[in-house]
Amino acid sequence: MSRRDKMISKIKELMYEPDYIRNIGIVAHIDHGKTTLSDNLLAGAGMISSELAGDQRFLDFDEQEQARGITIDAANVSMVHKFKDDDYLINLIDTPGHVDFGGDVTRAMRAVDGAVVVVCAVEGIMPQTETVLRQALKENVRPVLFINKVDRLINELKLDSEELQQRFIKIIASANKLISNMAPEELKKEWLVKVEDGSVAFGSAYHNWAINVDIMQKTGINFNDILDYCNEERQKELAEKVPLSDVLLGMVVEHLPSPNISQAYRVPSIWSGDIESEEGQGMINTDPDGPLAVMVTDVSIDKHAGEIATGRVYGGTLEKGTEIFFVGSHGKARTQQVGVYFGPERVNTDRVPAGNIVAITGARNAVAGETICDIDRKIEAFEGLEHISEPVVTVA
Ligand code: GDP
Repeated sequence: MSRRDKMISKIKELMYEPDYIRNIGIVAHIDHGKTTLSDNLLAGAGMISSELAGDQRFLDFDEQEQARGITIDAANVSMVHKFKDDDYLINLIDTPGHVDFGGDVTRAMRAVDGAVVVVCAVEGIMPQTETVLRQALKENVRPVLFINKVDRLINELKLDSEELQQRFIKIIASANKLISNMAPEELKKEWLVKVEDGSVAFGSAYHNWAINVDIMQKTGINFNDILDYCNEERQKELAEKVPLSDVLLGMVVEHLPSPNISQAYRVPSIWSGDIESEEGQGMINTDPDGPLAVMVTDVSIDKHAGEIATGRVYGGTLEKGTEIFFVGSHGKARTQQVGVYFGPERVNTDRVPAGNIVAITGARNAVAGETICDIDRKIEAFEGLEHISEPVVTVA
C-alpha cells in the first residue's frame, strides 16, 4: 500500500473514533500569521511538501488546483497526527482573517469544537482578535493561544527574557479577560489559557518552531535558550528540535475537546429542539446510529463535481445515495457522493458518521446555515448563524 493509501485508510478508520478526532479552526487578526501557520502544520503532518508551505500559500492557492489536477477545497484540510503513540484525525477549517468575512468565521466556528487563536507578539491582541475570539466563544468553541512572531521580539525589538515574559503576560491576560467574560459559565475556569498547563504556546510560524510548557519539560529548552537560538541565527536548529506542527498539534490534541465531549455542551446552545428526544440524545452522544442531523456550514462550486456542501455531522450517519431533507427550505435531494478530507483533497467514502466534517455532492440548493436530516424523520433546525461585528468606535 502506498503511503497515501495508508493515510487515507487511517482517516477512514479514525472517523469512526470520535475520541481521536479534533475539529478545529485557526483564528487571527489579519497578518498575525494564520496562513503561515496552517501551511506549516500541513507540511509538518506530511500532507503537503515543505517546499510548498510558507512561500506558496497553500490555503490561498487556487492555481495549485489546476497545476495538480486534483480537487482542492481550500476551506478544509485534514491531517493525521501521532500523539503519545495514538493517531488523531485533525480537521482544520479555514477561517477568513478579515472582518468583512465575519459571517464566514461564525460559520466555520459552527463546524468546529476548538480554536487556535494566533496573536502576533509584536502587535498583541487587536480588535479583530477580540472579534474572532468572541465569535468562537459565542459558539462554545474552546480556545488555545499561540503567540506568534516571537523571533521578531528578539531579533528586531531586542527584548530580553524579562521583557519577553512581560509582553506574554499582557497578551495572555487580555485573552483571558475575554474568555472569562464569554465562555460558558460552568467551563470558564477550565477554559482560561495558561502557560503552566500548556494551553499557551510561543513561537515563530515563519521559522517553523514553537514551545509550550510540555515541550520545555521534554526537551529542556527554556526561554533563555530561545533567545540564544534567535540571536545566534540558529532558528533552523530550533525548528528541528521543537517543530511547530508537533507542538501545535500536540496542544490541539491535549487541550481542545473531541466531538463527543464538546457536543454534549454545544448541542443545547445551537439546537433548540428537545434535548431529551431521540434526536437530541443522538447529538449529545455523537451517536452514529441516531437520527441524522447535519449543519451545512459552507457551499462551494467544484468544476468537476458541481455544488459541494460542507457541514458538520452532529447526529447519525450520512450515506451516499440517500434521500435527505432540508429543514429550512423544505427541499429534498439525493446525495451523490459523501466524502471526508485528506490533506486538501476530498476523498469519497460510503458514509460519514457523527462528529465529522462531511463534503456532500448532490445536495442541490443547499445553503450555509441549512439543517439536513433524514427524509422520514424531520428534526428541528439548528439555530441561525448570527455573527458579531466589530465594536463601533465613537470619537468624542
Ligand atoms: P495571515 O494574514 O494571518 O494569514 O498572516 P500571514 O501568514 O500571511 O503572515 C503575514 C506576514 O507575517 C507574512 O509576511 C509572513 O511571512 C509573516 N510572518 C508570519 N509568521 C511570522 C513569524 O513567526 N515571524 C516573522 N518574522 N514573520 C512572520
